[in-house]
Amino acid sequence: MNDIFNFEKTVSRCAVVGHPIGHSQSPRIHDAFARQFGITLDYEAIDLDPIAFEQGVHHLQAGGLLGLNVTIPFKEAARRLSDEVSERAALAGAVNTLSFSQHGQILGDNTDGIGFMKDLERNLDSSIAGAEILLIGAGGAARGILHPILSRNIGRLVLTNRTLSRAEDLAILAKGAKVQTCAFEDISGSFDLVINATATSLTGGLPDISNQVFHPRSIAYDLAYSDQPTAFMRWAMSAGAASAVDGLGMLVEQAAESFWIWHQKRPDTGVVIDELRSGVR
Ligand code: NAP
Repeated sequence: MNDIFNFEKTVSRCAVVGHPIGHSQSPRIHDAFARQFGITLDYEAIDLDPIAFEQGVHHLQAGGLLGLNVTIPFKEAARRLSDEVSERAALAGAVNTLSFSQHGQILGDNTDGIGFMKDLERNLDSSIAGAEILLIGAGGAARGILHPILSRNIGRLVLTNRTLSRAEDLAILAKGAKVQTCAFEDISGSFDLVINATATSLTGGLPDISNQVFHPRSIAYDLAYSDQPTAFMRWAMSAGAASAVDGLGMLVEQAAESFWIWHQKRPDTGVVIDELRSGVR
């Protein structure tokens, strides 16, 4: 047989792991990026049992994958599992992108922060210089975005979480820079930017905080995304915020950074955000 008929295209294999994972748009996003470069990609969404996370990752590594995206609730476990981590993942104490090296090493990175900042500053054209910011949540996502936010010349940041001790632990990582922590019931004043980094939107709920946190120029940013405005977005608008956005733009931007880590190519994110918006709304 002529060699041309034996030609097999190289397939890059990657996946996103989480629990649950049914809501994930990551396969669609990475497929769209891959098409921009003619890369043949096999990108799966895999639900891993939380008690067997480490075993599951090693199994996928042995199966020859390039790497994994890691989502709720595994980002801190992925940090512990990594043999080496980037500076931004070390600062966050959380990993959302794993790469498997040819020598069997597991390399951890965190692209949530850059994804959030690119969406806010480039896609939404918002500057946070001088801003008063409320960050609700202290899980993997909050960890990822905290340092990039603090790297801008913000006014101040109040960090609150249902379990206050987790917010306090996270504030220690911020090394004292303009960060205050407080319990939900002790939040006072209103904020220019209110970020919901809790998992409440996944079940249609809200963090139990006062709606006085919004003023007429506030932007409400829910890291979660959905085919409809989230409960947090609707609540913020009814409380008088100027605008409310979801985390779809961040999702695409953080995925683009993971795509860069694995394929060294920078996709056009705008077209993919538009494609998803028209598909989900
Ligand atoms: P996680 O590590 O499991 O953390 C969950 C956070 O939600 C914790 O702060 C937890 O508080 C809080 N929480 C859970 N249930 C709550 C409730 N009923 N009331 C108040 N707080 C509650 O999850 P994660 O990875 O940080 O994800 C958080 C959210 O961000 C999810 O909606 C996820 O989809 C979204 N996200 C979006 C992107 C994006 O690219 N757009 C990226 C990452 C994450 P406790 O500490 O008290 O348990």
